[in-house]
Amino acid sequence: MKFISTKDPNEKVSFKTAVIKGLASNKALFMPVFIPQLSEDFISNISILSKIEIGVEVMRHFVSEDLTLSQLQKIVQETLDFDIPTKPLVNNVFVLELFHGPTQAFKDVGARFMARCLSHFVEADKKVTVLVATSGDTGSAVAHGFYDVPGIEVCILFPKGKVSAYQEFQMTSLGKNIRTIEIEGTFDDCQALVKEAFSDADLNAQVNLSSANSINVARLLPQMIYYFLSYKDMIQKTDRPLVYCVPSGNLGNITAGIFAKKMGLPIHRFIAAENANDTFVDYLLNGKYQPEPTVATFSNAMDVSDPSNFERLAYLFPKREDMIEVVSGMSITDSETLCEIKNCFAENDYVLDPHGAVGKLALERLLQPNEVGVFLETAHANKFDRVVQKALPHFKPLAVDLSVCLKTSMVNDYKLFKAFLLR
Ligand SMILES: *Cc1c(COP(=O)(O)O)cnc(C)c1O
Repeated sequence: MKFISTKDPNEKVSFKTAVIKGLASNKALFMPVFIPQLSEDFISNISILSKIEIGVEVMRHFVSEDLTLSQLQKIVQETLDFDIPTKPLVNNVFVLELFHGPTQAFKDVGARFMARCLSHFVEADKKVTVLVATSGDTGSAVAHGFYDVPGIEVCILFPKGKVSAYQEFQMTSLGKNIRTIEIEGTFDDCQALVKEAFSDADLNAQVNLSSANSINVARLLPQMIYYFLSYKDMIQKTDRPLVYCVPSGNLGNITAGIFAKKMGLPIHRFIAAENANDTFVDYLLNGKYQPEPTVATFSNAMDVSDPSNFERLAYLFPKREDMIEVVSGMSITDSETLCEIKNCFAENDYVLDPHGAVGKLALERLLQPNEVGVFLETAHANKFDRVVQKALPHFKPLAVDLSVCLKTSMVNDYKLFKAFLLR
């Protein structure tokens, strides 16, 4: 399988190159040249397959030029060594719990898969510097996924004061090959600095840069696996049309779900649930893609107003009419989010994190009576304890000791950032 630039059909590279480069030229993204179709046998036998067998079957089509089957098996096994259950919650609503990994968010899956691919691909003498802009969860997942991996340096940028203490702790407490910078600015500012670094020829001549944002195919593609695992759980419970509702920021998670559907997974349709940063929902509703300045919300991992994976969705669906057949959208306010956390605990004895709350509410609003819905609980409530406590005052936060943190503070200035990378 080759990977092709969303902007230039002549730029075609191997999986290995796409993983190492992260972004294609001119800030374009890589896409597989085609989406392989899984056999009907695989789908109809899925209930007798193991988690690892499912993961390997889904991924092997994309990586077979650069990884042997046994290498892939080992990577999938190490990536998925925690539970990813889909559980009944209330009526025809189920929850896909993606928070059982080491940093308690779905990003563990992609980050662990990518770290293992990258460490496999880097050459002994050529150190790779992985650049990451994060609104919180990516940074912690990448820090843990790449910690102490030989040949890899990690540099994480996060917006000052806009991540939770627990997230900051997870990013900044490791040290060794993990460096963190807090930027005086927003997540979009962090993302812009990273993008500028990638297009800086002078810098790239001196440092071997790679990206671990959800734009990297090695993070995006393994996220398909848990839609298959969830389907395996769901077919034992229902034969009604399945709707997956994805709390969305950079749109990586929902893009992976749509890839899974295009490979043949019988998901009926998707819902993108957003907070006040609802550029994509607006596009689905009225056809205009107009990013506004990012606003801070309670579901801050989704505070993204110009989601990078929109480019991939637009590439998959050149016509908006075709996109809205598959995806609809709903945005949820902060006060609705708090209400939902409160109600869900009162009614179902289940503590939602703010992102899951956005997902559950959007799902319940758009689910048809004949359908069964699954929303993705993208993180554990622990990671967003300050918000959860606003709704549930008795909720006990985890204590963290930020005094052990290792971070650099910086104003939003590319020259300073570049100097830091060259140091
Ligand atoms: C990253 C993240 C999201 C948004 O996912 P995208 O793939 O960027 O759309 C949602 N919820 C949580 C908890 C996250 O960490």
